[in-house]
Amino acid sequence: MGFDACGTAPVRSLKKDAQYMDEWIAQGLHGNMSYLERNCDKRYDPAMLVPGAQTVVVCLLSFAHSGRDYHRRVKSLLYSLEAKLKEHFGEEIVSATHQHIFCDSAPILERRWCVEAGLGFIGKNHQLIHPTLGSMVHPGEIVLNVPVLPDTSSRRNQEDTEKIRKGCADCSLCTDACPTGALRNEQWDATQCIAYTTHHCLECQLPCPYNQLTTNI
Ligand code: SF4
Ligand code: SF4
Repeated sequence: MGFDACGTAPVRSLKKDAQYMDEWIAQGLHGNMSYLERNCDKRYDPAMLVPGAQTVVVCLLSFAHSGRDYHRRVKSLLYSLEAKLKEHFGEEIVSATHQHIFCDSAPILERRWCVEAGLGFIGKNHQLIHPTLGSMVHPGEIVLNVPVLPDTSSRRNQEDTEKIRKGCADCSLCTDACPTGALRNEQWDATQCIAYTTHHCLECQLPCPYNQLTTNI
């Protein structure tokens, strides 16, 4: 459809993430994102968000292909994908009554679902890191009302699997580069983060070795 990567994951309740987020919010590290204190049940379990949900399809679009309005571009591609899926598998593959397409817009833990779908790992900069696309990607999701079986005929590239397994290892380039200390203590402190307050900071993404192939695009 034009995405740079795609994966699927069976719906489940993200109990560990719920615990982590509850503690993070209790420490006040979410700043004034008070919306994170609401809809917790839905955020941690897509089946509470979309009744009948069985699979999360996660797609990634690199910064290089998203243009200025990435929400619009990602959503437009997701709607095209949804139309194709309905054409092949029937209208009932998605909810007729609940929103089931998301891009940075609903209570759904996007980065965690990227990991669940095998698309990468969460780095020390708290970004999703795809083994070849790096962190400069926009995720979008479609929640399906059917299970999706993994395609065992197309095995993941071994090199990518090894990179995901290795993760950040002993690298600390991003935490060293953060000018405010927002990544101290292995947590992201939104109250200290420039990107959260002004939306203009890539200091913890530019030095990442996983972005070296993409930063010049
Ligand atoms: S976006 Fe900037 S301020 Fe925020 S964590 Fe990254 S480097 Fe630090
Ligand atoms: S800069 Fe290093 S520590 Fe930070 S996310 Fe990238 S690999 Fe991980």
